[in-house]
Amino acid sequence: MTAGSDAPADAPARTPKGMHDVLWPESARWERLVARFAALVEGAGYGLAITPIVEHVGIFNRGIGEGSDVVGKEMYTFVDRDGQVMALRPEGTAPVVRAYVQHHPVPPWKAWYVAPSFRHENPQHGRYRQHFQLGVEALGPSDADLDVEVIALAFDFIASLGLHQVILKVHSMGNEVCRPGYVELLRAFLAEHRSQLCGPHQARFEQNPLRVLDCKTPECEDVTEAAPRFVDNLCEPCAAHFARVRAGLDALDVPFVVDHRLVRGFDYYTRTTFEFASGAIDAAQNALGGGGRYNGLVEMLGGPPTPGIGFGLGIERILIACDAEGVFATEAPPLHAYVIDVTGGESAVLLTAELRRAGFRVDRGFDGRSMKSQFKSADHSGALVALVIGDRELAEGTVGLNPLRSDGEQRDIPRSDIVDELRALLS
Ligand code: AMP
Repeated sequence: MTAGSDAPADAPARTPKGMHDVLWPESARWERLVARFAALVEGAGYGLAITPIVEHVGIFNRGIGEGSDVVGKEMYTFVDRDGQVMALRPEGTAPVVRAYVQHHPVPPWKAWYVAPSFRHENPQHGRYRQHFQLGVEALGPSDADLDVEVIALAFDFIASLGLHQVILKVHSMGNEVCRPGYVELLRAFLAEHRSQLCGPHQARFEQNPLRVLDCKTPECEDVTEAAPRFVDNLCEPCAAHFARVRAGLDALDVPFVVDHRLVRGFDYYTRTTFEFASGAIDAAQNALGGGGRYNGLVEMLGGPPTPGIGFGLGIERILIACDAEGVFATEAPPLHAYVIDVTGGESAVLLTAELRRAGFRVDRGFDGRSMKSQFKSADHSGALVALVIGDRELAEGTVGLNPLRSDGEQRDIPRSDIVDELRALLS
């Protein structure tokens, strides 16, 4: 059977379920958001990393963990034509760490990304099968100051959008020294309260007790409220690390709460974890982004022992929160001019090119349509002025300048003066 031969011939021309087109002018808001993020993180030494959308499935199995929801239940996997098992990227960290292992840049290595992520979830508002993440990864230093830098970058970005109703939660998940002891303590506690847990966790809390801390059912939340806390069971170096992170955030006036249940869904985290939650949107989908330290991930993917930390922010969620708070509105920059030419010669080609080369945003009519129809398109385009070339203008060597968004009559400008005139008008 060839690929797609079982697809219905009349498949509707629609995006796949849970996926969306982002069209202009909303896409202009995306561009602005990404440009703002790029400027912020590049100013802190992070360089853009562009990795494939597809990776060998093992990159995610080993990194995120096969027991996690993202890998175990939601990842898009397929066998390619070479018989290799591949996966569409479900998150941004593992591919960047894979790139680090492959290219071994000199640490400290700081990278940022903007990339689509794919998860086969039950779609709802704010939860999609394709979403975009903006993120950073910093590899090399184990210094708690780097945790502070990374968290503060995400905080500053969110604040720069005008979002105020956002809570930063931080936690520490310890390391290979103290985590096993804590997990045992938690397992014993959950065993005592097994009958009060939600159905699925009654059956399988023993495999990974930490996931119960992440469970959002009221039953599990009631139980874990009183569970032993990781911060009370950290080894001395992890406790000192976490104390320095908190002190650094305090020093930078980054407000936060310690959330004893913030374990996040991926196996690779060690020590610091953090998440930004919006108070302005539906609690089930209120995470704007999060991240943490992953000191073992580079080794898990076959590289030398190298600490790392990063975060991923969901673009769609951030924009939903912006809408809820009435900030960072869609503002698409308008066209400066729209060229209307009814002479059928080369005037529109030449004038449009000249203005674009001079740095103006310009569009034009095509197909030799009537003056009236081209004016309609000019109006629809949002351009600030129409530049009209009819037979008279052509004969006289002029262009009719017609303001579309302000009062004023059409006036004739010598063709050779049009760049200067437009510049003066728009300044
Ligand atoms: P995670 O990699 O799960 O920590 O996700 C990082 C961020 O990406 C989350 O905080 C959300 O903002 C966003 N995100 C994750 N999954 C989805 C999804 N299915 N749809 C939309 N946004 C998502």
